[in-house]
Amino acid sequence: MKSPFPPPSPPHAIVIGSGFGGLAAAVRLGAKGYRVTVLEKLDAPGGRAYVHRRGGHVFDAGPTIITAPFLLEELWTLCGRRLSDDITLKPLDPFYRIRFDDGSWFDYSGDPEAMRQEVARFSPQDLDGYDAFFREAEKCYRLGFERLATISFQSFSDLIAVLPDFMRMGAWKTIYSRVAGFIRDPKLRMVFSFHPLLIGGNPFSVTCAYTLINALERKHGVHWAIGGTGALITGLVGLVKGQGNEVHCNAEVKEIIVRDGRACGVRLADDRLMESDIVVSNADTAWTYRYLVPARHRRHWTDSKIERTRFSMSLFVWYFGTRRRYSDIPHHMILMGPRYRALLTDIFKRKKLADDFSLYLHRPSASDPTMAPEGHDTFYVLSPVPHLESGVDWACAAEPYRKKIAAYLHGSVMPGFEDHLTESFVTTPIDFQNRLLSFRGAAFGPEPVLTQSAWFRPHNRSEDIDGLFMVGASTHPGAGVPGVIASAKALESVIPDPSTLRRANA
Ligand SMILES: Cc1cc2nc3c(=O)[nH]c(=O)nc-3n(C[C@H](O)[C@H](O)[C@H](O)COP(=O)(O)OP(=O)(O)OC[C@H]3O[C@@H](n4cnc5c(N)ncnc54)[C@H](O)[C@@H]3O)c2cc1C
Repeated sequence: MKSPFPPPSPPHAIVIGSGFGGLAAAVRLGAKGYRVTVLEKLDAPGGRAYVHRRGGHVFDAGPTIITAPFLLEELWTLCGRRLSDDITLKPLDPFYRIRFDDGSWFDYSGDPEAMRQEVARFSPQDLDGYDAFFREAEKCYRLGFERLATISFQSFSDLIAVLPDFMRMGAWKTIYSRVAGFIRDPKLRMVFSFHPLLIGGNPFSVTCAYTLINALERKHGVHWAIGGTGALITGLVGLVKGQGNEVHCNAEVKEIIVRDGRACGVRLADDRLMESDIVVSNADTAWTYRYLVPARHRRHWTDSKIERTRFSMSLFVWYFGTRRRYSDIPHHMILMGPRYRALLTDIFKRKKLADDFSLYLHRPSASDPTMAPEGHDTFYVLSPVPHLESGVDWACAAEPYRKKIAAYLHGSVMPGFEDHLTESFVTTPIDFQNRLLSFRGAAFGPEPVLTQSAWFRPHNRSEDIDGLFMVGASTHPGAGVPGVIASAKALESVIPDPSTLRRANA
């Protein structure tokens, strides 16, 4: 007989923020049976993967190097679809070109033989060390990524349980010292150690466990999503909506409402209240605790603990279009400046804006004609800079800094390009703070040093408040698109089963 009562409505989860982590969390919550509302401060989803469209150019604001596509595939599978239904991924070969200040370059790819040839061009005596380095990197991938990335480190015993894995990886060593233990050539040491910069870490401070990135790229490739990284965000929003759930933009959360020690909804910037059974924050964890949760509810994440956190570097990004094409610039190019360790010390430790820089130059129109008007190119150039503790007044410093970068590009790989500029705009650490609400304007949350990783990183389930959860770059496992998508999986393991909440609410 049909029940005379309507079925109970599913428990409600609010997700604050629509970055890759927030959207991946929304998909997993939806698949678990929650009704999900994603609330996004900006006028469009994506967070660091926001898309600026100007003059026919498509500027992906942030992530461009797409690795570990199987993590995306899992989300599509949860919705009964395939990633290829919505997204065309194009494998890139080489992954990127690393150009040194003297004009020489190394083409970095996933082909072990091509890589050996590149290593031999610089230093044949480092070939054995290179092979041995990759064997270690693969071990770190198996232990650090396959086993640890999706564990949610909630208790100290979770950490104790994985200590043998940390020992096997030699995790107390820095990535630079691990590379230097195998490879002697100074340029090759840069080539194999710079990867943690992609997730906000200084190669001279972060654990060598992050050599897992070298192995991850080799195993699963570096890809480009046709239409840009924004196409992945559109695809994820489509999954959330396809589950019958909602993504609201221009919806800034001002407070997480806590009643009897439990998160039970949010207050929006327009003072609207929205109730929920759980709240998941994809916003920066430091910002979430400091500004969205009143201090009286926080015993662990006190203001002084937040202040004591070591934050990652920030970024200066110049987006520009040209009315001609630069066919000899590859899709991804890293331009190493004259200094390596000393520059990173300026950025991470001295918090000093240096006169020199190392740059990442992105030319998506090299692989994808949809990214620029015909005959034009779309670019961004990114420079790691200290976060806002530097005291730099970016309102004054931005334009001279942009000009310095332009002069460097003119003198190195794009002579005369400024005569062909069309669109031009920049992002500074102030935007990371004021627009993306990131503490100290850090681009990647807490710096991923060993003492701020795994159990030591802000937990996926709040240490302070029941029913409050964290997902994204500033919780476990950390920044980068694979990291934040993995964090949604770690989150899933600590989210209550919706049926238990239904009973509690009945
Ligand atoms: C320039 C740049 C280049 C990068 N390149 C790469 C790359 O090539 N490959 C790679 O893997 N990674 C890259 N990264 C790192 C990667 O982009 C990030 O680690 C990842 O996208 C962060 O995702 P997230 O889910 O943590 O959240 P975010 O993208 O930070 O999104 C958080 C969202 O929360 C919203 N929000 C914050 N507070 C509130 C509030 N109170 N109310 C409502 N909404 C709120 C924000 O507006 C934002 O949309 C790059 C990062 C940058 C900045």
